Amino acid sequence: MAQETMQFKTEVNKLMELMIHSLYSHKEIFLRELISNGSDAIDKLRFEAIKNDKLTEGDANYKIKITPDKEAGTLTISDNGIGLTKEESIEALGTIAHSGTKEFIKLLESKEAKDNPDLIGQFGVGFYAAFMVADKVTVISRKAGEDKSIGIKWESTADGSFTVEQCDKDTKGTDIILHLKEDEKDYLNEWELKEVVKKYSDYISYPVVMDTTKTVEEKEIVEEETLNSMKAIWLKDKADITEEEYKDFYKHITHDFGDPLKTLHYKAEGTTEFSVLVYLPKKAPMNILYQDYKSGPALYVRRVQIMENCEDLVPVWLRFVKGVVDSSDLPLNVSREILQNNKMVEIIRKNITKKVLEAIKTMKETEYDEYVGFFGEFGRVLKEGIHFDMAKKNEIADLLLMESTATENGKFTTFADYVSRMKTEQNEIYYITGKNRAELENSPYLEALKEKELEVLFLTDEIDDIIISSLMNYNEKSFKSILKGDIDLQTEEEKKETNENFGKLTDKLKEVLKGNVSEVRLSARLKNSPCVLVSGDGDMDANMEAMLKAMGQPIPERQKILELNAGHELVEAMNAEFEKNADSPRVAEMGELLFNQALILEGNMPTDPARFTQLLTKVMTDNIK
Ligand code: ADP
Repeated sequence: MAQETMQFKTEVNKLMELMIHSLYSHKEIFLRELISNGSDAIDKLRFEAIKNDKLTEGDANYKIKITPDKEAGTLTISDNGIGLTKEESIEALGTIAHSGTKEFIKLLESKEAKDNPDLIGQFGVGFYAAFMVADKVTVISRKAGEDKSIGIKWESTADGSFTVEQCDKDTKGTDIILHLKEDEKDYLNEWELKEVVKKYSDYISYPVVMDTTKTVEEKEIVEEETLNSMKAIWLKDKADITEEEYKDFYKHITHDFGDPLKTLHYKAEGTTEFSVLVYLPKKAPMNILYQDYKSGPALYVRRVQIMENCEDLVPVWLRFVKGVVDSSDLPLNVSREILQNNKMVEIIRKNITKKVLEAIKTMKETEYDEYVGFFGEFGRVLKEGIHFDMAKKNEIADLLLMESTATENGKFTTFADYVSRMKTEQNEIYYITGKNRAELENSPYLEALKEKELEVLFLTDEIDDIIISSLMNYNEKSFKSILKGDIDLQTEEEKKETNENFGKLTDKLKEVLKGNVSEVRLSARLKNSPCVLVSGDGDMDANMEAMLKAMGQPIPERQKILELNAGHELVEAMNAEFEKNADSPRVAEMGELLFNQALILEGNMPTDPARFTQLLTKVMTDNIK
């Protein structure tokens, strides 16, 4: 088969270039990434071989071998794992599968990343890290079970393209050959390699070996030496593990450069036995809100890795929990389908959920500042539990932190605190949803509540409206979005009086705005602004609509209610004009302008921008004449 030349996807080129320039102080991690890939490849083969033992090709002596060749200037990392077909190599080594890559590249380009290389650990740089130390990388691979003549040779000099061709390969698995750059030849030294393996890959559960030269009785002998300890730290006694080892293991499994926030290590004994070593990270990974985020701890059955990320071990709202679960009772050949409905897995999930929630609660009570940091990173994910987990929703509600009209900028309150501050005559927990506090603070919807000193929660995550509807109430107090429905802040008499005076004007405007609004009524929530648009009680808020729109989902067309502030001088003047002349074109034009202005306030476009600007220009001209 002839050699084919192919182009890397744009994001690969960009990523490689940026990595080479911003990770220079952490170059040695290339070895960790390649060893980790080798270990994954062996895991995959071992798992496949449970069903089809021919795939081992008679060699189940799994290992990863490092071979420095000083003469050739190459460093080779070989594994006897699953291997790659030609198609797989093109796909896996020519593109980047992670979503969030664009954001990651942006992050790498930022000054923040240049000053803080730890940020990069959140992504996992992978195979391409090889190009930090090599100007040419050759991958020779053969898929386990394939004919010896169907190997592949992949090669690139990081010049935007790579080549692939068929070749012979006797053994299954993959050799990654790094042609080291002139100033990276240190990675050919035995001691340097030993140190890097010990530092980053000690917990790899397969031997990482290297031929080393020893002098025995004045004769030099070459021996294969295992460089890592392979110890399953999660099965050891807590008392035998140092803080440092816990941290190292965390970094090893997550590829995070930073330390974890919390470590939970315990053994459960009862109907089913399992060991759990899980961590709460400090920082949320870039792609935690994306579909392809790999959620869940690794699942081992008696020290054999079954799955690198087992999403069934944690609920979706704890998907940031990372670590290892080792079960003594699950069968070795479990499939994803079996796991989904497995009683034992359910017991483990419930147990981890309980323990993690307890740890989070304790952190909130005893290490509040740390908790604020944690919530800033993961609160958005955690609160999904209110929607997805009926049994836990009240417990999670107590963990939420929010700003409100009663908190200083950047300080938080909780539902419990809010309720303790509620006025005696107040029945509902008021909240407003929107992009950020600054925008919400100036919202006209807040005016009357502010005046009456009623506290309003600022909810700024796009999912908050759904979360609140799922929660329904807190301590028997129901929630009330001040953007929606009617707000009861006036006495019956006040209502009656304004209705008598302005009732005809609202009817008139309803006619003018027919097709655009479902109703025009007088507002109790406004103080300084002439009007706002509000939704019905059960409707979606604008934040939610924007999110669905961004996801390409259809949004039900619903007309909103236009609320007028009878206390505003413009509305009063309109009313006076209307009483003089019920067919005054000026009243109709003002009505149209007010409606469009309310649309803009919500972040929308006027219904007919050309007509809107014409009307506005006319009003301005009249005013200056
Ligand atoms: P990640 O490991 O995070 O998926 P990498 O860039 O490190 O990202 O690797 C991309 C893909 O290339 C892997 O998912 C795997 O399919 C394949 N790959 C890399 N190294 C090996 C290897 N030694 N053996 C088999 N497949 C490999």
